Amino acid sequence: KEFRNNVKPNWCPGCGDFSVQAAIQRAAANVGLEPEELAVISGIGCSGRISGYINAYGLHGIHGRSLPIAQGVKMANKDLTVIASGGDGDGFAIGLGHTIHAIRRNIDVTYIVMDNQIYGLTKGQTSPRSDVGFKTKSTPKGSIESALSVMEMALTAGGTFVAQSFSTDLKDLTALIEAGINHKGFSLINVFSPCVTYNKVNTYDWFKENLTKLSDIEGYDPHNRMTAMKTLMEHKGLVTGLIYQNTEQKSYQELVHGYSETSLAHADLSLSEDKFNKLVSEFM
Ligand code: SF4
Repeated sequence: KEFRNNVKPNWCPGCGDFSVQAAIQRAAANVGLEPEELAVISGIGCSGRISGYINAYGLHGIHGRSLPIAQGVKMANKDLTVIASGGDGDGFAIGLGHTIHAIRRNIDVTYIVMDNQIYGLTKGQTSPRSDVGFKTKSTPKGSIESALSVMEMALTAGGTFVAQSFSTDLKDLTALIEAGINHKGFSLINVFSPCVTYNKVNTYDWFKENLTKLSDIEGYDPHNRMTAMKTLMEHKGLVTGLIYQNTEQKSYQELVHGYSETSLAHADLSLSEDKFNKLVSEFM
């Protein structure tokens, strides 16, 4: 089970995305997948390159649209494990509509966001995850907009698997991705993945000082949505671990009539002349 390929990532040395790539590769192997059983669909941004660095089916899509493509792949081929990935600009700005609707749809896709609170590929502009006061080329006097609280948003949108991690916590991140893959429904894993080149505020040291592991909070229950919301608000969203999971709610696939029996990818779509004529006659 070799999920590594021979493509050398062209991320900056020290970029948090390296660990996310390693965690996905390890998690896929740990859950027993073969490369041909996994599809990684990514959007645009530095992190969007990840689909090319994993030995699996992959598609480097268009900006903010990894989720529509990933959902289409899952609907067409029930046998594939589908991971969607991208950055915070990709998923929480241009792609936010897709993110919210995929969450509430509870479709069986694992969505991994590499959240560095900045646009890296376009050389450092404020993103929807940047804090108030954050100075970049696009906000030279500091951002005046509030950062989007994505974990809280996912809870209110009906998320059934809401988790957050830090790219240096490779073991924890790998375990969360494994759990996300095994979850029957949509899993959102937001990963703090520092941009060492353009974000000089939210650095590795900054996260180490400011993040709280949920495993360090005594009695934390990830199956209680109220507790999850309260904890997020108390810690200003800066927590890592499994924030909330609902295993009771059925996935989109379980609710779509006939999904479990059919797979478009394997269906015989050839059409004989008789069948074609019959089909046409039904519309006449
Ligand atoms: Fe990573 Fe930032 Fe470099 Fe992009 S610009 S590869 S996000 S460190």
